[in-house]
Amino acid sequence: MSIIRITNASVINPEVRINGASVIIEDAEIAEVLPAGTPLPDADETYDAGGALLVPGFFDIHAHGAVGYEITDDDPAAIPAVCKAKLEEGVTSYFPTTLTLGHEALAKTMERVALYCEKEEYCRVPGVHLEGPFINPSSLGAQNPAFVRKPDIEEVLQLAAIAPVSEMTFAAEMEGGAEFARQLLENGIVPSCGHSKATYAQFRDAYARGLRHLTHFCNQMSPLHHRDIGLVGAGLLHDDVRIEIICDKVHVSVPMIQLVFDRKPIESILLITDSMRASHLPDGPSSIGGLDVIVKNGEARLAKDGALAGSMLRMNQALRNVVEVTGLPVEDVIQTTSWNQAEELGLGDQFGRIEPGYAADLVLLDEADYSVKGVFVGGEKRL
Ligand code: FE
Repeated sequence: MSIIRITNASVINPEVRINGASVIIEDAEIAEVLPAGTPLPDADETYDAGGALLVPGFFDIHAHGAVGYEITDDDPAAIPAVCKAKLEEGVTSYFPTTLTLGHEALAKTMERVALYCEKEEYCRVPGVHLEGPFINPSSLGAQNPAFVRKPDIEEVLQLAAIAPVSEMTFAAEMEGGAEFARQLLENGIVPSCGHSKATYAQFRDAYARGLRHLTHFCNQMSPLHHRDIGLVGAGLLHDDVRIEIICDKVHVSVPMIQLVFDRKPIESILLITDSMRASHLPDGPSSIGGLDVIVKNGEARLAKDGALAGSMLRMNQALRNVVEVTGLPVEDVIQTTSWNQAEELGLGDQFGRIEPGYAADLVLLDEADYSVKGVFVGGEKRL
């Protein structure tokens, strides 16, 4: 058994901060969290955190790419490269997120995910997030209209037979959409409504069949109107509906971030990056799902119509932005980056907290700028 000590860390857990603490890792799990001054057990390795924040490893459930790659690229280097970039953001668990593509291309991506999962040399990949192809053709954003089709559980199950599908974004107003939510749940997949013009009544149909998750809240969804509160109203109204949110201050404005954190229970907010191919790269031309993109001033937009085309956001920046915008202490915000996601998947007793028995998936952050100083996955220092 190998024992690792991380000393002199500000350990951050949901609602708890312990300065000057030490964390003892035995094999892949957290064995003890010891307050300052406690005698430490012998260890094989010791890391001095130098007072940095030690937070649960981030869980990005929605990101398409980074460092010049999209996870759907027909290139065996794509998924490992994106997973390496995610690790550098402090992400220890990640759902590679597909785009609206043909079945062959999606199946090929699933094969490449399965291959990555044999080793998982960077972050963990517990499953895939299928974003589309069953979305509303009039709410595409940067999704390619050529491949939009009607909800089809058989197609999803074919893909899930290659690699696990954990989440599926679809438009609830599509033919059979509400029933599709129930079919996904039956198969252990989180149904999420997005790229959708659903009315509140259409949302309620899917809600009645178990829908409790909205994809990139506010972006590509029916806005709040006082006679039909749409999906934005549904997300704000229903405490038990989890919302993904891109807190880059571009996809969602600062007052909207404030409103969401004011209104929603913190356990129903899930920070995502929705990062695309050009994330981690300087401004310049790029692409998403075969469509041309221009990145300027850190904003990725489609060349043809200026629609937002995914973000440049990193998970550590997302956390920092929310702390800055809301004024909440980091220990209040931290559960939106991993524990809430783990809870939704029924893994809240294994991931997202720095407590005995939890996986030793940990990130060291500089408290001044939230830059990533180190990353542990299953007790192994990978960065
Ligand atoms: Fe999207």
